[in-house]
Amino acid sequence: MEATKNITHIAVVPSPGFSHLIPILEFSKRLVHLHPDFHVTCIIPSLGSPSTASIDYLNSLPSNNIHSFFLPPISISELPQQQSPAFQSKLAMTKSLPSLREILNSLMCSKTSPPLAALVADTLAYEALDIAKELNISSFLFALWSPALCSFHFQIPKLDETILGEYPDYPEPFVIPGFVPLHGRDFPEFCQHRSSEAYKMVVHRDKRLPSLDGIMLNSFIEMGEETAKVLANNKGSGHPPVYLVGPIISQTGLMNEKDRPECMTWLDKQPPRSVLYVSFGSGGTLSQEQLNELALGLELSGHKFLWVLRAPSSVANASYHSASSSNENPKEFLPKGFLEKTKDQGFIVPSWAPQIQILSHNSVGGFLSHCGWNSTLESVMHGVPLITWPLFAEQKLNAVILNDALKVAVRPKVNKKGIVEREEIKEVVKTLMESEEGKGIFKRITDLKEAAANAMKEDGSSTVTLSQVAHIWKNKGVLQ
Ligand code: UDP
Repeated sequence: MEATKNITHIAVVPSPGFSHLIPILEFSKRLVHLHPDFHVTCIIPSLGSPSTASIDYLNSLPSNNIHSFFLPPISISELPQQQSPAFQSKLAMTKSLPSLREILNSLMCSKTSPPLAALVADTLAYEALDIAKELNISSFLFALWSPALCSFHFQIPKLDETILGEYPDYPEPFVIPGFVPLHGRDFPEFCQHRSSEAYKMVVHRDKRLPSLDGIMLNSFIEMGEETAKVLANNKGSGHPPVYLVGPIISQTGLMNEKDRPECMTWLDKQPPRSVLYVSFGSGGTLSQEQLNELALGLELSGHKFLWVLRAPSSVANASYHSASSSNENPKEFLPKGFLEKTKDQGFIVPSWAPQIQILSHNSVGGFLSHCGWNSTLESVMHGVPLITWPLFAEQKLNAVILNDALKVAVRPKVNKKGIVEREEIKEVVKTLMESEEGKGIFKRITDLKEAAANAMKEDGSSTVTLSQVAHIWKNKGVLQ
């Protein structure tokens, strides 16, 4: 990059993992597209080797005003096992801080690029923002959070001080400003056990939020109007300004015919809105018992399905840091005879599928999802109603947003053992795909899709907000 006075240079730091890397890079692409006088350096901490999906994505980036490189990888064997992927990502970031500091220092003194104006970090890479303070540049968080989740995190330090015992045991729902009453059992996974390392990490981070210059949410007003209002009027609350700049999802180009995977050709042959897409994100897994029930429930529903299948595990997030590199053949774990019986009804894709292309295909009429925030936004942006099947992290809270606040989804009931039984699966699929209730859900998600598209227009709320943030960085100050 040539040193030029008119370029504003920022650094972005994702946390390890595909689903945290892509959004911050898509954000960077949008920033430089709308504001070509920006340059972004993306510094990527990694845990083990990055996935093929991440590398393919990085290779496709425009190289003129976004530069990216990996920090020396942290080996998964250096980290405590049996911890959640989120906590492992955070620990990998902690271990990467010395190399990150070195690079940021060199960028500040570089003769070939302007000094940094701001550092933007993912929520699990928040410790990087301490370095922003040391360098006296703006510190911003880029969060894959709904307005409700942001409001929730603002409450955590207070809840931690005032509530005794575990949140799920609390008899009353909690008040999260601007949001529907929230039961402790629907709190994010990291808040289910207060003695866990993940919970301590979140409290530690959330106590530090007030010191930041801003929090950007990959969300838009209509994903939570009341909460967004509360967040917009938070001056004097001690919390940093919150900027809704999304929904930003991956913009994958059209594939040429030769590279088009078989599942897309199969979708081409199905009637409009007839197929239920089933996927649990980049690393979600089911137990063997649950996998059997899901298979049999899909079969009983009689509806077409496209299922991204992973080998079962007793741990719901078992594949998070290794999803696309598993060597197991997940089809071997399906109930006996299932593939033969459903050969005209369903299509199974082992481990990984082109989700955005699938959701944008007009044969897809529903999405059975684990409610990761990216999947949630992708479904909304394509107007695909959901069956919510939260597994870990903040997915239960996202499910509450989709079911109770926005009413764009149905949620299956779990039995006492925590299993969704086949009959229940059949019922929710039928409700979504063929009932009057399903039609209402479709209408609401179609409206939400339009609101999402409007937010991203040239004069849309999220575009205007991003320009405000760009303006702050250009002036290297903090908007008061
Ligand atoms: N994804 C995909 N193909 C798959 C599974 C996931 O392209 O087979 C993408 C999906 O489109 C989304 C991301 O991986 O962008 C998953 O992110 P999300 O926040 O939904 O869930 P997480 O992986 O963090 O649990």
